Amino acid sequence: MITRFAQPEHRFILWLAMQDRLLTKERLNRLTIPVENDTCCLCEKSVEETHIHMFSTCEWIVRVQIEMQHWSGILISADTVKHILNRLRRKNWKQFHKELIAALCGAMIYQVWRARNWKLFKDITINTNTSVTQIKKEFVDRLENHQGNLYKKKV
Ligand SMILES: [Zn+2]
Repeated sequence: MITRFAQPEHRFILWLAMQDRLLTKERLNRLTIPVENDTCCLCEKSVEETHIHMFSTCEWIVRVQIEMQHWSGILISADTVKHILNRLRRKNWKQFHKELIAALCGAMIYQVWRARNWKLFKDITINTNTSVTQIKKEFVDRLENHQGNLYKKKV
């Protein structure tokens, strides 16, 4: 399922996210590792940083989702990663289409996780436009590579 379009580092984050294993503050709390401030650092909502918040309801990821939806024409609903990927598995879409969406999810999750870590550990804010630009660039590169490979096969 996880997908030749996804970058290796995205695949790993995506895999962790699917298992709810990224070390969000909620998870640290559950593991009884003390967290000074357990709220999300990407928005002003003062809500606990959970998987569900970070990957589906936080305004940061919602903004990225909306942008990516406009750009790709693919509807990416606000939903948790697992649900998205499970739904994908059942849908009767072409493999290529599924892989694109899975890679898109992977890229978005990677970006939100990176933005969170930079904010938290370096106090650097990555705005959503920067991430959106990055995702688009990676996708165009990947698709060009993919087409390049197809072309090579034919020759
Ligand atoms: Zn948030």
